[in-house]
Amino acid sequence: MNGLKQNNITILGSGTSTGTPIIGCHCKTCLSDHPHDKRLRASIFLRTKQNHHILVDATPDLRYQLLRQKIQYIDFVLISHEHADHVHGIDDLRQICFQKTKQELDIYCAQLHQPYLVERFPYIFQREKFFNKDRPILGGGIPILKLKAFELKDQIKHLEIMGEPFTFFLLPHNYTKTVCFYHDGFAYLPDCHEVTANVIEFLTQQKLRLLIINCLQEQDHQTHLTVEKSFAYIHKIRPAQAGLIHMNHNLSHEELTRLAKENFDFPVFPVYDTQNLNY
Ligand SMILES: [Zn+2]
Ligand SMILES: [Zn+2]
Repeated sequence: MNGLKQNNITILGSGTSTGTPIIGCHCKTCLSDHPHDKRLRASIFLRTKQNHHILVDATPDLRYQLLRQKIQYIDFVLISHEHADHVHGIDDLRQICFQKTKQELDIYCAQLHQPYLVERFPYIFQREKFFNKDRPILGGGIPILKLKAFELKDQIKHLEIMGEPFTFFLLPHNYTKTVCFYHDGFAYLPDCHEVTANVIEFLTQQKLRLLIINCLQEQDHQTHLTVEKSFAYIHKIRPAQAGLIHMNHNLSHEELTRLAKENFDFPVFPVYDTQNLNY
């Protein structure tokens, strides 16, 4: 069953909630011809050594992201938090359900995000309210998703999913918290405005081979990490290499690549859509 010697990540999207270019914007990055300045909403796809295919977040760009990477099979989905740029593509998982024997797909989230998902997609997560024996699902149908909410508070929690060793923790992000994770030498911190001391300590101990961390822009921001903060956390955590994600149009790929090179003596780089990384 084992297909890969290393775990593999595909960057499905590297941008913030607006994507880049932004509709109606004529700034340098939005008008750039550089392919790495075209950023869909942030999401990653993991193919593990155990041959599991794991989608992290279901962005509004999900359909195109899956088509572009020719992804047609997913074992389970992880949801980082309830913001629109991370969940509004959930309906497009329908086609993935059709590829599965039982036509059912597991979608994991933290308990604190569960009510928002149910409220946002009642026809999926409360389908018994909408469909029954006398009122069956007609036409193209709906995605059959099994929402599996796990308890996560301020602890660092180990949880195996299909035998995959995940460690989950929450980081503060706007009025919510984001589920971030560690998996076999890799840590993913997509949306946050702070990395708490207990998480820095945990990640430092792991001697990460790869860290992917939120890096929105240079200017101060209430809900995301700035370049300065993101760089400071990378210096503290000291992974073998670090990728920057969830950038907005104030940072071009070229500019952020230059800033990262000036500040580190190990590989730190903005990730880009379609990029493949091993860990
Ligand atoms: Zn986001
Ligand atoms: Zn967010």
